[in-house]
Amino acid sequence: MTQPASVQDRGTPIISVRDLRKTYGHGAGRFEALRGVSLDIREGESLAIVGKSGSGKSTLMHVLALLDQPTDGSVMLDSQDTKRLRGRQLNRARNKTFGFVFQQFFLTASQTALENVVLPLKIAGVGRRARHERGMAALEQLELDDKAKNKAVNLSGGQKQRVVIARALVNTPRIIFADEPTGNLDSNTGRTVEDILFTLNRERGITLVIVTHDDELARRCDRRIHIRDGVIVDEEVAA
Ligand code: ADP
Ligand code: MG
Repeated sequence: MTQPASVQDRGTPIISVRDLRKTYGHGAGRFEALRGVSLDIREGESLAIVGKSGSGKSTLMHVLALLDQPTDGSVMLDSQDTKRLRGRQLNRARNKTFGFVFQQFFLTASQTALENVVLPLKIAGVGRRARHERGMAALEQLELDDKAKNKAVNLSGGQKQRVVIARALVNTPRIIFADEPTGNLDSNTGRTVEDILFTLNRERGITLVIVTHDDELARRCDRRIHIRDGVIVDEEVAA
C-alpha cells in the first residue's frame, strides 16, 4: 500500500524533468511538440496541465509517464535517470508506480469489468486468486462490485470511467495520470469522477497529474501549469 502523503513527503519530487524536447516527423514535416520543458512533480500534489488543443499537453504527459521518450532532456523518477530503463524494467517501473485514466477509456469491450480491472495485475504476473481478490476490492471501492461480471460494452460512460479508475488503482499506484478524464462524460458524471480522483489524492496521498482544458477541474488542483506551443508559459499555485 502506498504511504499517504505525509507532511515530510511534500516537496520531494517524485518526477523531475529538465529541458524536455520532443520532435515528431522529419524534414519539412518536422514538428517540435515540446521545446524545453522543466518541471518537478511532488509526491502528494495535484497538478493540472492546461493549454489549447495542440499545445503539447498529451505529449508532455506521455513523456512524464514513461509512455514515450523525449527527443532530448532528462526524466528522473525518484532521482533515478529513466534513460537507463529498458524493456521490462521500464514496464515494471511504469506498472508499479503509475495508474492511467484516459478520456477514451481504453477498455476491452468484450471483457467483463473485472477482467479489465485485473489486466495490470496480469501483466505484473500476479496469480489468479490474488488478481480476483484485488480486482474485486478495487471495484468495491468504486461501488462497482455488482457490475464485476458485466461486459464493459454494456456499462454507461460513468461506469466505464469508474472501471478505468479501478484498473488504475489495482496496482496501488503513487501517481495517477489522467488525460481529459471527464472529456467524454456529462457534467454530473464528470463531477463524480473528479470527486473520486480528488478523494484518492486527499485520503491516500496519490499524486494526480491531470491534463484538461476544463477550467473548473484545473482550479481544483493544487497547481496549474499552462502550456503554449510546447513551452510552459505560466504557473499558478492554489491560494
Ligand atoms: P494536446 O494534448 O495539447 O492537444 P498533443 O501533445 O497531442 O497536444 O500534440 C502537440 C502537437 O504535436 C500537435 O500539433 C500534434 O499535431 C503534434 N503531434 C502529436 N502527436 C504526434 C505524432 N505522433 N506525430 C506527429 N505529430 C504529432
Ligand atoms: Mg491531448
